[in-house]
Amino acid sequence: MNDRADLHLHTCYSDGNYSPTEIIQKAKEAELKVISITDHDSVSGIDEAIEVGKENNIEVVAGIELSARCESSEVHILGYFIDYKNRDLVEKLSFFQNERLRRAERIVNKLNKMNIPITIDSVLDQVNGDSIGRPHIANALVEEGHAESYNEAFNRYIGNGRPAYEQKWNFSPEETIRLISQAGGLSFLAHPGRSLNEELIYRLIKAGLDGIEVIHPSHSPDLVYYYRGIVNEYCLLESGGSDYHGGERGDDDAFGQYYIPIATVDIMRRRLFSN
Ligand code: AMP
Ligand code: MN
Ligand code: MN
Ligand code: MN
Repeated sequence: MNDRADLHLHTCYSDGNYSPTEIIQKAKEAELKVISITDHDSVSGIDEAIEVGKENNIEVVAGIELSARCESSEVHILGYFIDYKNRDLVEKLSFFQNERLRRAERIVNKLNKMNIPITIDSVLDQVNGDSIGRPHIANALVEEGHAESYNEAFNRYIGNGRPAYEQKWNFSPEETIRLISQAGGLSFLAHPGRSLNEELIYRLIKAGLDGIEVIHPSHSPDLVYYYRGIVNEYCLLESGGSDYHGGERGDDDAFGQYYIPIATVDIMRRRLFSN
């Protein structure tokens, strides 16, 4: 115990339910030693997490989760040890946040055309931070009585390929990896899961990907073994975490259950040093 790191956590600055302070309190209870705040397209929770983390003897790795466009699908790339005040990064994040708002408006329009009278203001009521996502729309749909549950909102309306789904504007994986690298960070392919094709992984490795998120709630033991094999074969780094959001989606059991040893975080730091 006490040597655990969870490098994938969301806060209310994107689509998580808890503040950075609350996440640190939960991390303390779960006896995590190192965490990373990896909000979607936002670094706004990092300062608070670092400050409260210091008071509680928990190290906070500055992180981010970015979405990248791949033909018709999307992959998520985690950045760790980023200079989260880097000007270019901050500028690009505010562009992504703006694209998220425009995409939420498009989704609301689609829902209205399906005779669901939801407004962008009711969605904005669900947002605490600067990065609007589909989870906020799901919460608004539930609150306004158009869906029974968060999951139903995704399954019926806004999940991938569902009738009110809209893509958001994203960088290519290559541009995303470069953005993280230029902000001094390491990039990791997030939760590759079952459906990712191998060619894409090799494309990302060629683009300078530093590692793969091997430990994740969606990964069976077989998948962990498989991705660890790729990590070793290509001299990549391994990461892992709970991808915890909290709230309506019922992932509270995951907190503290998906982690990597802090020695693995030290290996990342050494890679940064030698870059
Ligand atoms: P967005 O970044 O706005 O496209 O929203 C994606 C986020 O919605 C993910 O990070 C998850 O937190 C959540 N999400 C995506 N798909 C589902 C799903 N099928 N059911 C529940 N939550 C989902
Ligand atoms: Mn999310
Ligand atoms: Mn993700
Ligand atoms: Mn995530």
